[in-house]
Order: sequence, then C-alpha cells, then structure tokens
Amino acid sequence: MDRVILHSDMNSFYASVECLYHPELAGLPVAVGGNPEKRHGIILAKNELAKKSGIKTGETIGEAKGKCPRLVVLLPDYGRYLRFSRLARKIYYEYSDLVEPFGLDEAWIDVTSSVGLHGSGEEIARKISRRIQDELGVTVSIG
Ligand SMILES: [Mg+2]
Repeated sequence: MDRVILHSDMNSFYASVECLYHPELAGLPVAVGGNPEKRHGIILAKNELAKKSGIKTGETIGEAKGKCPRLVVLLPDYGRYLRFSRLARKIYYEYSDLVEPFGLDEAWIDVTSSVGLHGSGEEIARKISRRIQDELGVTVSIG
C-alpha cells in the first residue's frame, strides 16, 4: 500500500500567533522581528497586510519601516510559538502516530494508517486544517 504523507505548514506563523495576542492590532500591518527600538535585526514573519505593503521575511527592520512606516514590529516570543506548535502537534497525533516536526510551524504527518478510518488523504488534510483554524486560530496549508 502506498503511504500517505501530508505536509503541514502554518501560515505566517509567528505573526499569526502575535495577532491573536494583540487583537488591538487588527487591520494593521504587523511583523515579528529583531529589535524594533534599535531598528536593527530582521523580519522573521509578517501578516497579510504587511505582505501587501511589500514587507519581506529576511529584510532588515529599517528597510521594512522605510517601505511601510506604520508597520508594527513585535519582538518574537518563542514561548508562545512553542505552545501553539505543541497544540498543533497534538491535533496531528490524533490522525497519526508518525509525526515529524520541522521547525515550529511545519510537520510531516504520515496518515497511512488513518486512511479509511478518517477518510481519504485529502479529507484528513481538510479536517486537520479546519481544526487548526478553529482551535488555534491560525491558518495552515496542508498538502
Ligand atoms: Mg509557515
């Protein structure tokens, strides 16, 4: 039997998590990165509005602010990302015993033994992505 392996990648992960903790920033371009006060360090993640303003992961905060002066830059809080990463992993483990995390926001999930029980690979991918969206408030790409 062919193995069915899904790849899960939570979108704009650090920025998505920070926006959940900062509802007052709704409607603003938000990025997570280095040291915003000293205007150095790099952009690690950005939300959709920041992306629309041309903000790119890996550019310096100075460059990003130059392009988008009202960009809100937050310091990374890895404790939060770790917590969300673990919550996502808990969901993956409901569909597979074989989960290989890759960084905090990605994982490979071997759902071969769940196919049939939980539907096709595509259905399992949809179920997992809906649960991450509903339970964690973060969007995810699974394929
Ligand atoms: Mg990601």
